[in-house]
This record gives sequence, C-alpha cells and structure tokens, in this order.
Amino acid sequence: MLTESTSPIKIQKIAQSKLEHLDIEKVPFGKVFSDHMFVMDYADGEWSEPEIIPYQNISLNPATSVIHYGQSIFEGMKAFKSKNGDINIFRPKKNIERFNRSAERMCMPEVPEELFLDALQELVNLDSGWVPDLSGSALYIRPFMFATDEYIGVKPSSTYRFMIFSCPVNKYYTGAVRVKVETQYSRSVKGGTGFAKAAGNYAAALYPAKIAQEKGYQQLLWTDAIEHKFIEESGTMNVLFVVGNKLITPPISETILAGVTRDSILELARDWGYQVEERRISVDEMLGWLHDEELLEVFGAGTAATVAPIEAIGIADRDYELPAYAEWKLAPRLSVELDSIKRGIIPDRFNWNFKTNK
Ligand SMILES: *Cc1c(COP(=O)(O)O)cnc(C)c1O
Repeated sequence: MLTESTSPIKIQKIAQSKLEHLDIEKVPFGKVFSDHMFVMDYADGEWSEPEIIPYQNISLNPATSVIHYGQSIFEGMKAFKSKNGDINIFRPKKNIERFNRSAERMCMPEVPEELFLDALQELVNLDSGWVPDLSGSALYIRPFMFATDEYIGVKPSSTYRFMIFSCPVNKYYTGAVRVKVETQYSRSVKGGTGFAKAAGNYAAALYPAKIAQEKGYQQLLWTDAIEHKFIEESGTMNVLFVVGNKLITPPISETILAGVTRDSILELARDWGYQVEERRISVDEMLGWLHDEELLEVFGAGTAATVAPIEAIGIADRDYELPAYAEWKLAPRLSVELDSIKRGIIPDRFNWNFKTNK
C-alpha cells in the first residue's frame, strides 16, 4: 500500500535519465554518477530546504573557506539489491553517527539523524535503477559536508553545504597487496583528527603512500605517530590479523577510524567462535608471528573492498610473505557471509540492513 510521504525533501527529477548509458560491468570505481544528488545548506544556525536535484556541477566563490582551510568531511556506504528486489543500505546509522563525530571535531554542524536517513532513503529510492545486482557490485553512497563562507580569515565557517551523491560500482578487486610498515610518516596522532573522516587526513597520506608505491608496495601499514612501534591501520582501511584461532586487531582510539566493516567482521568472528582480541599490536610482536609462521591471514577492512588480503609485509627493507590466499579460511568466509547478508541471500541476523523501500 502506498502511504503519503511525510518527507520535507523537495524533489526535482532529471528530465532524461542517464541510466540507459550505464554498462555496469565496464564502470570504473567512482567515476560514474547516478542521476540525482541531495543538497542542503546550513546558515544562521539551522539547516534549510533539503532538496534532491539532478546530478550537476556546483559553482563556488574563489574565497570559499573549504578550499583554503579544508573544513570538509565525508562518509562512504553502500546500497545493495537484495534477492527479493528490496534495496538495502548497510548499517547507515553507524555512518551517520561517525559523520556527526567527524563534524564535531571539525567545528561543523551535525546533521540530524532522521533527516540524514530520510535523505539517503529518498535519494536511493529515486535512483533505485542505479543499484546494480551483479554479485559484488553495489551503489556506493558518498555523503559529505564542506564550509561555504566566502571569507579568507581562519575561523570556523558559519555556513555549510551538505550533499549526497552515489556511484554504481563493481566488485572492488585489488588483488592481494604488498604493504610497507611506515615508520617515518604518520597518518594520525594523539589529539589529532585520525578518528574523523576529514578530507585533510587523506591529502596528508598521499605522499608517504606514493613513496611506498615507488618501492613496490601498494599500501602502507601505519604505525603510531609517537614511537612508530604499534600497528594502526592499513592505508584507508582497518587491519586485522589471524593468529591461530584468534582474530586480533588494534582497538578503536582517537588515532584509528572506527570502521563499520571492522565492527561487522568482529561480530561475525565472535559468532563463529573465533577468539577476538582488540588490543595494541607491536611491530615486534608481528615480527615474532612471522618468524614462527603463526600469522595465517592479514587483511584490510573497509566499505569499498570489504576484505582486502595482504600478501606480504615489508619491515625495514625486508619482505615477509604470508601464506597463499588459497589457504586462508577466515577472510574468504567473511567476504561471502557479508555479501550474502547484504543481498538478503541469508537471514540478516544482526539486523544490519536498512531497507529503503517504503
Ligand atoms: C573509511 C575508513 C575506514 C573503513 O571504514 P568503513 O566504515 O569500514 O568503510 C578505515 N580507516 C580509514 C582511515 C577510513 O577512512
């Protein structure tokens, strides 16, 4: 039965959908955008006039604050087409909470959870034709907020724009990657912004990643910024280690981003009887595991790739190879289980899917 929409969001539909030009199997990650986007501005202490409009460029005054001082945050989540035709967004409330924690750290206004969810729901429903249903594919959703004051003084902006757009994406296949333990540069420091999805964090990580790439590594294994002794994250993913029947990962802290994928993986592993440990892991301890051949699997966890296997770890100019992926047990099982939950192939026993259909 249809019910009257109570959403305050004004909708202006695109005249001619671009969907007929979509060839999902050929789409590169993050370069093709669906028909519509959500836009809402903040001024005088409040959000006003939430709108969905055709995807289009935005025009900015050159003095717009975000361009100079980087008050900008974002999120990333995915919507999936379920077996029965429903569209599920995976755990969006976690992303909304995290977005608002990022906002607070960057002196930006929060977006009310109800309004945020409503925006996601309306946008994904309107562009539901863009949610692919090939295994491994999804509609990637990118909410973000930036400072819009036209003023070059350094202070928190008093106006902001919040937007959401989406991109149909294929299975994000990186292959197994070689990672380098980074002991010179830092992604995140105590008292800093590492727990926030703040744009500047990613800009600052590009240079060390580029240097590692020149040395043949695809990714960095970040260590703590104080002593460079403890493992923190892998590139822009959380990192997990399988040692015997234990799943071990660094604890969430102000220097480590609280990944939704990480959280879901820990829940599944506990459910399956793995011993889960959230604790600091030193590079020395990891070296010990490698010497004793106790380290069975190491993988990154994030929305884009879900599980990203690591095949070798470079520590101080020596590379340590991990067992071949074909021998891994947990990472492939996690990957299949998460995909099956998101697609409604197996019951959603943790209540993770947010159904957009009304
Ligand atoms: C986004 C992100 C993650 C992964 O978070 P998910 O919610 O699983 O996508 C991990 N680390 C960093 C630095 C990130 O930006």
